[in-house]
Amino acid sequence: MTDALQLDNEKQLLKLYYAGAQIESPNGGFLIVLGIRPNEDGGAAGLLECSVSSLRYRFTIPKATRTERKKVKHVLDAGDDPDCPRHGPGTRLVRAGKNVVCNTCGVAYGRG
Ligand SMILES: [Zn+2]
Repeated sequence: MTDALQLDNEKQLLKLYYAGAQIESPNGGFLIVLGIRPNEDGGAAGLLECSVSSLRYRFTIPKATRTERKKVKHVLDAGDDPDCPRHGPGTRLVRAGKNVVCNTCGVAYGRG
């Protein structure tokens, strides 16, 4: 990922990403999600490629907040399967080792 560029407006990008919307590329065309890699801090790193220029961009997905963790814990304690707090209903969290993670954003939201 060392040759990837940084995007100016990560906040806006994340919003679109969580919504599953198309992300416009600064070079025209769209950014295609190539992959998400979990970080050690519980967040994740994403890699995007422009559909026109093939330039690659990286973006950082912040780790779970206390509020998000609380929300997920609450659902787990109730014996239910939690959805991703950012992707919303329909995106189930999965157990990966000791953690409960979202496969789409790569973020760990708690312990299963
Ligand atoms: Zn997610």
